[in-house]
Amino acid sequence: MDKRPKIPISKIIKSFLGWEDAKMQNIYELLTFVKQNELYPTFYNIETAGTEPEVVINGRKCFMFSSNNYLGLSMHPRVIEKAKEYLNLHGLGPGGSRFLCGNVSVLEELDQKVANLVGTEDAVTFPTGYMANMGIFEALMDPFMGYFPYRKGTGVIFSDEFNHGSVVDGCRISDAKKVIFQHNNLTDLEQKISRVPLRHHKMIVTEGAYSLEGEITALPRFVDIAKKYNAILMVDDAHGVGVLGERGGGAVERFSLQGQVDIIMGSFDKALGGMGGFLAGNKKLMEYLRIAARPYIFSSAVPGVMAGAMIEAINLCMHGQALRSKLFENYHYISSRLKSIGFKVLGSGDFPVAPVVIGNENVALQFAERLFDLGIYAPPFRWPAVPQGASRMRVTVMSNHTRAHLDGLLEAFERVGRQFQVIK
Ligand code: PMP
Repeated sequence: MDKRPKIPISKIIKSFLGWEDAKMQNIYELLTFVKQNELYPTFYNIETAGTEPEVVINGRKCFMFSSNNYLGLSMHPRVIEKAKEYLNLHGLGPGGSRFLCGNVSVLEELDQKVANLVGTEDAVTFPTGYMANMGIFEALMDPFMGYFPYRKGTGVIFSDEFNHGSVVDGCRISDAKKVIFQHNNLTDLEQKISRVPLRHHKMIVTEGAYSLEGEITALPRFVDIAKKYNAILMVDDAHGVGVLGERGGGAVERFSLQGQVDIIMGSFDKALGGMGGFLAGNKKLMEYLRIAARPYIFSSAVPGVMAGAMIEAINLCMHGQALRSKLFENYHYISSRLKSIGFKVLGSGDFPVAPVVIGNENVALQFAERLFDLGIYAPPFRWPAVPQGASRMRVTVMSNHTRAHLDGLLEAFERVGRQFQVIK
């Protein structure tokens, strides 16, 4: 009997012709390019919870300045307690989408809680904020594959050039035309939107707060333009929710614009300390999204354990004025000190993230490595996340950072800043 392994003939031909390697050639070349240009990120192995002010990396204690756990809720005892309770009740996973077996009552409760937080009639939740953004544009701009009331492909989405990748990706899967306006430039937006005929279905999307710029969006002006040109207005408020507004309702609450923004998108994994995302708006729109947003239909629901914990996190957030005051106090402390040492710190001063300009990509990389040697974890943001030559360290503070953490950061920044001559 012939004991030789049976190799499919197609495989022999392909390897003979060199196809096996060739099919990945471009991909490998790109990877080499990224590595050679030192653009490949360092994935630090964080051995403790990455959300906390102090973490252990490679066996060494470091101060964390890169977590979006703004209010420190991820490890809040009440949130952990609720998570344990719901873990016992629901186990780990949801078992399916909300259409199948995922529509557990705690999720209905969470929808209402979110709506209450951001000041809308209703909300729908997703396992991540990314998925919320992947669902909204197609659902609104290509309703039921070109069915009534809009003709497929006649919609136009106006998107800020600095909008997050999840907004970009969500827009990409819609058939609508995409028009990019200059960051926060209302004049540019108005020039562009005024050229589109009235009959076209329009949508404007901006973020409530741009964390990489450390600034809040001039939302009232967006509301005016959206009204004037009869456009749907959406705010991705992933960073604003929990941080802005008296009750942490986000940018809409901050500007008292409740009822004037059609869709508020938010994330559970920043100020609320968990994981997941949501879209919020009026009842009818949410009713529609429940049957039209594809990630809502084709992916599993937010797990019950997360929903229970997020309800508690929202309770804490809505009564979290002290946490927000501390967060802003920490931010003002580091931002004013960094400026007085000589760093260029971006931002309008009303959003608690301090983006420190470094400029050159390689310097930013080395700057971060040197900071890490000094026990400070603050990875750099480089092209393509920000424009070329505009690299920056995004210093993210949390309400549970102590003065010792902040002073540690300042000391390290001053030393490394002088070493790389970013400051004199
Ligand atoms: N929008 C913005 C502005 C974000 O910063 C993020 C997360 N970085 C998202 C959306 C996606 O949210 P999530 O992490 O919940 O998927």
